[in-house]
Amino acid sequence: MMRLPRFRYFAPRTISEALKIKSDSGPESAFVAGGTDLYPNMKRRQQTPRVVIGLSRIPALQRLRFGSEGVTLGAGLLLSRVETDGRIRRDYPGLAHAISEISTPPLRNMGTLGGNLLLDTRCNYYDQNYEWRQAINFCMKKDGEICWVAPGSPRCLAVQSADSVPVLIALNARALLASREGEREIAVEDLYRNDGIDYVTKRPDELLTEVRLPSPDGWRGSYRKLRRRGSFDFPVLSVGAAIRRDGEKVAGARLVLGGVASAPLRLTRSEEALLGRPLDETSIAGAAEAAAGPSRPMDNTDFSFLWRKEMTAKFVALALRDLA
Ligand SMILES: Cc1cc2nc3c(=O)[nH]c(=O)nc-3n(C[C@H](O)[C@H](O)[C@H](O)COP(=O)(O)OP(=O)(O)OC[C@H]3O[C@@H](n4cnc5c(N)ncnc54)[C@H](O)[C@@H]3O)c2cc1C
Ligand code: SF4
Repeated sequence: MMRLPRFRYFAPRTISEALKIKSDSGPESAFVAGGTDLYPNMKRRQQTPRVVIGLSRIPALQRLRFGSEGVTLGAGLLLSRVETDGRIRRDYPGLAHAISEISTPPLRNMGTLGGNLLLDTRCNYYDQNYEWRQAINFCMKKDGEICWVAPGSPRCLAVQSADSVPVLIALNARALLASREGEREIAVEDLYRNDGIDYVTKRPDELLTEVRLPSPDGWRGSYRKLRRRGSFDFPVLSVGAAIRRDGEKVAGARLVLGGVASAPLRLTRSEEALLGRPLDETSIAGAAEAAAGPSRPMDNTDFSFLWRKEMTAKFVALALRDLA
């Protein structure tokens, strides 16, 4: 049985209290929301914070507010709460669907939206217990020197695998980050960096407090995910799509790939292939074909990477057909 290492646990009731504890505890501390990612990582000694700051007792992180500008989702909202909310299902069905594809119902009753956005990147050589990783002399992401996927690579290629992220980016979501220095709002798209170790632009002292979605205003989103088991599995290729039509023609398109790099990937050429055209089999085929080039999965998750690349066009087409 894998056991957690020893750590001190704090359970603040307010955002400012959480930020103060974080600043007082320094780099050897971590926030935890549902713990469905952090605690398994701690058991495998991939993350070893000496201080853990629980967020689940902070009511301000659990608000769900609808307004004329859109919806504000507290980072501490349970995934199951977001997935089952009637207004989210009506106005953002693509997001509700993406969240319903995350892990299992019990884990969605623990895991939060914020924890999903900040999910650790994944790799076959990293998602192993300590002894397994020790037997290969570890890797660059934790405790080692080399990348076993691409030994010549100066950077870790672990994969962005959070299901909510591609569709949130497609829907133009924004993230609110708080620190003791104040707040800043950034596009969710700008939260990620294509580096398997340093994979978010959020500073360690910053708390993700809210995710903001603009009102649908004609935009409709969808999500498709490739995984081995239909019941539950992380995505090894995923597509978030959002389309806005003007009459019969596509007036706006945003397409995002997940599961193929350390950051989500915008498919700008595919987006351009749709603009000004009806969303039919011809335009969908053009957008799908344009997606295959930029999709360059590495050999570090389930399934052959060549097959995952081949599947890119098919999954882009599936996500677009959901909107046609
Ligand atoms: C068996 C299993 C299957 C899974 N399958 C999937 C899947 O298919 N798809 C998928 O996307 N995920 C999957 N997950 C991962 C996980 O359950 C979800 O990603 C979940 O949303 C994580 O949320 P959490 O609140 O539990 O995160 P936590 O574990 O609490 O935190 C995750 C990370 O985010 C940080 N963090 C959390 N909240 C904040 C905040 N507000 N501000 C700053 N930092 C914060 C933590 O410090 C930590 O680094 C799976 C997990 C398991 C165990
Ligand atoms: S991509 Fe390379 S460095 Fe990153 S986790 Fe995998 S083996 Fe380690």
